[in-house]
Amino acid sequence: MNFQTPIENIKFIREKQIANFKKLKIRTLGDLLFYFPEQYEDFSDVKEIKELRINESAVIKGKVIDINEEKSLKKRMSVLTILLSDSSASVEVVFFNQGFLKQSIKKGEELILAGKLRFKGRSLYFSPTIFEKADKSELTHLGQVMPVYRETRGLTSRYMRFVLKPLIQRFKDKLPETLPKEVIREHDLMPFKEAFYEIHFPQTMEHAKKARQRFVFEQLFFISLFSLKKKLEIKNEKAQQLEIKNDIIKRLKNSLPYDLTSAQDRVIKEILNDLNIPHPMNRLLQGDVGSGKTVVASAATLNSIRNKTQVVFMAPTEILAKQHFKTVFDVLNRFNVNVGLLTGKEDKYYSYKLKNDTIEISRQKLLEKCKKGEIDVLIGTQALIVKKDKNNKPKVLFKNLGLVIIDEQHRFGVKQRKELCLENNDKIPHLLSMTATPIPRSLALTIWGDLDLSIIDKMPKGRKQVKTSTILPIERQRTYDFILKELKKNNQCFVVCPRIEENEASRLEVKNVKDEYENLKEIFPEFEIEMLHGKMKPKEKEEIMKRFRKKKFQILVSTSVIEVGIDIPDATVILIEGADRFGLAQLHQFRGRVGRSQKQSYCFLATESNSKKTIQRLRAMEKYASGFKLSEIDLKLRGPGDFLGVKQWGFSDYIMEALKDIKMIKKAQKSAKRILPKIKDYPLTLKRLESFEKKVHIE
Ligand code: ADP
Ligand code: MG
Repeated sequence: MNFQTPIENIKFIREKQIANFKKLKIRTLGDLLFYFPEQYEDFSDVKEIKELRINESAVIKGKVIDINEEKSLKKRMSVLTILLSDSSASVEVVFFNQGFLKQSIKKGEELILAGKLRFKGRSLYFSPTIFEKADKSELTHLGQVMPVYRETRGLTSRYMRFVLKPLIQRFKDKLPETLPKEVIREHDLMPFKEAFYEIHFPQTMEHAKKARQRFVFEQLFFISLFSLKKKLEIKNEKAQQLEIKNDIIKRLKNSLPYDLTSAQDRVIKEILNDLNIPHPMNRLLQGDVGSGKTVVASAATLNSIRNKTQVVFMAPTEILAKQHFKTVFDVLNRFNVNVGLLTGKEDKYYSYKLKNDTIEISRQKLLEKCKKGEIDVLIGTQALIVKKDKNNKPKVLFKNLGLVIIDEQHRFGVKQRKELCLENNDKIPHLLSMTATPIPRSLALTIWGDLDLSIIDKMPKGRKQVKTSTILPIERQRTYDFILKELKKNNQCFVVCPRIEENEASRLEVKNVKDEYENLKEIFPEFEIEMLHGKMKPKEKEEIMKRFRKKKFQILVSTSVIEVGIDIPDATVILIEGADRFGLAQLHQFRGRVGRSQKQSYCFLATESNSKKTIQRLRAMEKYASGFKLSEIDLKLRGPGDFLGVKQWGFSDYIMEALKDIKMIKKAQKSAKRILPKIKDYPLTLKRLESFEKKVHIE
């Protein structure tokens, strides 16, 4: 047996459990061994029976003196009573509807049980939640700290312990330590062998904590090594050094109908300085929806073009590509540049020689022009631009590509970038990626440690804040009345249905959207409503968004799939159902769909939860307009699970938890920095890093 052994081949796993394990994403022995407990219950402290107090959880151990079963036909209930006695006293242990236990429990046996002493009617009895026989050589559950695993239907934590105990025993000596000794010493970490056992079956709560810390550190350490290595690799590559053209940037600024914010000015400088280095830029530009990233990208574009290089600008969808085309075209049209647009059907081309107009152009012509260097900036979807032909060569090639800009997509590997260049080019284009997801700095530095960050932390002047309120069930009618008024003013409304996190999520989400659609048709009979969900084809989705923008209908009901960045100027209301199921960062993104014009906009967060904590969390949305502020709150409260891109890394839950621990992140980064230059001295660490790189395949 090795790590890759499928769980089907582990003999003592029951066949009917295989599917359940898979539901928990446990497919191999390795997955199973590293399926760490979610929490622990301390059952190590065995109490004397006479010390028991009513309604207090406790573990007791004693001999079975008597067993008695009573069946009450009327109540269809069986009551099994065991008289248990230790050296201090005896107590009646009562099992309801578990008559079958009569067969396995014998008089004279020793049992160990966790539960509570209860007082009901006039009798005092012990009600157990879990028990096992105490005369085994080794206990699995009780008399120690008990690990509690995340369960799924039919697969209990109890069964997990039963399966894991012998496996851990068997493998704990066979796995290598991958952390360098000096790192273990430096941070006083628990060594692997011990930690691997103790994280599953700790002797004390303290041990459990140390074991967890070790694995958290380990993961953060490898993440840091990974990012640092990427960063070094990129710094060793060559790129074109692009001069900073100050006058042209000044002219650009003067030509805009508004003043740039100080934040925009700052990030433009950061970007231009970075482009002026003969190594590829690898920079992430973060800024809330509406913070004005496109004009920043346009400045970088113009500067690159004036250095006689081409620029490619990629968007996640066609609609957005068209939107960017229009913006870039508007901003740059005084500067004699040729802009191309590559989309599914209509390829467009704008040439300054043709003055203020776009012309349709055949795909082939457009590609030729691009290859000849006659297009200064090509805009399109990533899917189209990286598309390969039969010979696995990209269809789009540039004569002299200097800068790649990519919107809402965090990585575009060095290899991919190189492929877009004509073959004789040994230089790699610079990369500017942009995102509206406000990732807290600490988190960004860990998972995107190879990227440099530029942050637009200010909104343009005069933006109206979206008025946000949390809606409890009793306030619903009022909310609908309000929406009705907005619709009557010729405004539009988004309704987002709750997220569902189950196996059948997408089917149920679609059903939700359909139900909500029917529901809203009754509430707003005089308005047109349409829906959007993940089961639709990209084309269909785009068609609907287009129709929405053209105001062919007033209410759009959707799952959480509505895309980032699309402008629907007349949408003034967004109603988010089941808002408590989303992270604040995501709610903030939804909220960014409205408030894109001078009109006052509104965001309603509907919840049926009456948990104080949940409502408080939602109230943060009412109070704060900054995505960064909200994402920090979210990171503290919910961990990093909701941040775009983090999910793709496939981190386990405990790593998600660890990413909140900024101190630990800093420690891991420091050690990684020191170890990386001499990593060859640590072959096991290197091997582990290489397998980590394979797993996080980004390029
Ligand atoms: P995002 O960062 O979400 O991509 P955009 O770049 O699309 O935002 O900008 C949103 C809108 O704000 C655009 O209409 C743009 O013209 C405008 N804008 C950008 N910068 C400023 C500014 N400094 N002052 C006023 N309006 C601005
Ligand atoms: Mg944008």
